[in-house]
Amino acid sequence: MSEFEFGGQRIAAGTRQTVELEVSVLANNMRMNMPVHVVHGAHPGPVLFISGVVHGDEIQGVEIVRRILAAPELKTMSGTLLAVPIVNSFGFLNHSRYMPDRRDLNRSFPGSDRGSLASLLADLFFNDVVLRSAYGIDFHTAALHRTNLPQIRIEPEDEDLLRLARAFAPPVILRSKLRDGSLRQSAKAHNVKVLLYEGGEALRFDELAIEAGVKGTLRVMKLLGMISHAPAVLPHFTSAHSSASTWLRAPEGGILHSVRRIGDRVGINEPVGIISDPLGASQVAVISEDDGIIIGRTNLPIVNRGDALFHVARLTMKSRDVELHTPDEDEII
Ligand SMILES: [Zn+2]
Repeated sequence: MSEFEFGGQRIAAGTRQTVELEVSVLANNMRMNMPVHVVHGAHPGPVLFISGVVHGDEIQGVEIVRRILAAPELKTMSGTLLAVPIVNSFGFLNHSRYMPDRRDLNRSFPGSDRGSLASLLADLFFNDVVLRSAYGIDFHTAALHRTNLPQIRIEPEDEDLLRLARAFAPPVILRSKLRDGSLRQSAKAHNVKVLLYEGGEALRFDELAIEAGVKGTLRVMKLLGMISHAPAVLPHFTSAHSSASTWLRAPEGGILHSVRRIGDRVGINEPVGIISDPLGASQVAVISEDDGIIIGRTNLPIVNRGDALFHVARLTMKSRDVELHTPDEDEII
């Protein structure tokens, strides 16, 4: 097994090393780097990247990457793992989804070496990490004051991605269209197979979503032949499949009391929440418009009319398996 050259460093087979990629010099003359931890296995195999914090406030990816790097299975790994816990350090330090130039990094791919700061960072990550890989898993969470059920989002009709998603074994596999400028869209153009993981809430750690992310990634690494053991799924477990989802919005402003949780199945015309005025004098039910599973919800009980409250994924049935708009990853809906 030969050395792996990365960022000007040579990493010997069977060793691991952190490589600092230079991003920028900050206004106060501090250097901003993107640390990439390279685990280069003793035996040949594929290159997989794992990344967190493309959106700066989706901090959970840091913890998922940290736990994967501590997994004992990596000691006898085949292939190469490129682990980037924090892609967007600017947003991470500011607790903000966005870049300092107010751009969304996940609308800036593949980037350019002569563009805006978002474009420069996208270009660096895309060329130095994504294009070195055959596969990738990008960790996201719901937006601020929202939480997501652990789920993998893949584009429709890609059998390779479906195989990887099934191995990951999340509660829900959602087939969603690609957004312009997204990492997944740019990766597709170069035949890099990227799973998008969603789970938990911005600026929070959600233990169930962290565990689902760590275990799912190890299962994908086992499928790819990179490790020999991975956490098993529970007997009789299968992921729910969906290719269409909609947000249920508040019919009135007021105080929301949820009567259903993420992961719950709901039927058409079933109540999922109650909105009341602060004195409790008037109440309006929030009624599901679909058969499906709740894959995301607001955690903020103060709502205005029209606010997105519950994200319901329709469960795939052959006759209703139609494409509707589902966001590539969560943003303000
Ligand atoms: Zn995100």
